[in-house]
Amino acid sequence: MKAGSVIAIDGAAGSGKSTLARSLARVVRLPYVNTGLMYRALTASAIRRGVSEDDVEGLLDITRGLRFTFGGSDPHELKVEGFDDRALTTPDVERSVSAVSRHPRIRAWMHEVQRALGADGAVMEGRDIGSVVFPDAVVKLYLEAAPAKRIERRARERSRAGSDDIAAVLEARDQLDARTTPPTPPPGAVVIDTDSLDADATLRTAIALIRQLAPELVP
Ligand code: C5P
Repeated sequence: MKAGSVIAIDGAAGSGKSTLARSLARVVRLPYVNTGLMYRALTASAIRRGVSEDDVEGLLDITRGLRFTFGGSDPHELKVEGFDDRALTTPDVERSVSAVSRHPRIRAWMHEVQRALGADGAVMEGRDIGSVVFPDAVVKLYLEAAPAKRIERRARERSRAGSDDIAAVLEARDQLDARTTPPTPPPGAVVIDTDSLDADATLRTAIALIRQLAPELVP
């Protein structure tokens, strides 16, 4: 019954979407696909090889060579061969990822791969999953949070004190991302404002919504 069910989690950086998506994948026992990792791996590789963020052909070459697999068991989740979390969250990657991700041909390639990765059902996270990649997702959740909250969360995730640098990089990324993907909920999405919710409360809210929208997904 679960085959083909996609739960789409969209939202801005630092909105808490990764934490929610991973926990949700455990609860509903579907694989977790964080599509941000795919763009981050492309960016990390481009930086490593000295390929410019404007060189579409060079970036496409790298994209075609990326190997995506599933690993881990709780949840089963997307990995990019050769890249660990640390390599994907460096300040250099944060600074370049929006510019690298903006090219339509690269996005088209990524979208095809993402559709294949989610074909048997998945909790899919990313800012265009509910709008472009899986517009027919059974459940679409869109996480919102005030800028100050997002910066605070991001600083905590990166184990650094809240710094001006994080705020500046996040804001620049928001602005660049907004040119590629509008920072608005996709049609049919339920918006969760996470400002006053911690991770557990966000998860409980999401599960209650899924129980209403697709009760067969909740054990
Ligand atoms: O979700 P996360 O913040 O890790 O994504 C990193 C970057 O990858 C985003 O800022 C955006 O530029 C790009 N991205 C994207 N489409 C997605 C997921 C991520 O363009 N579906």
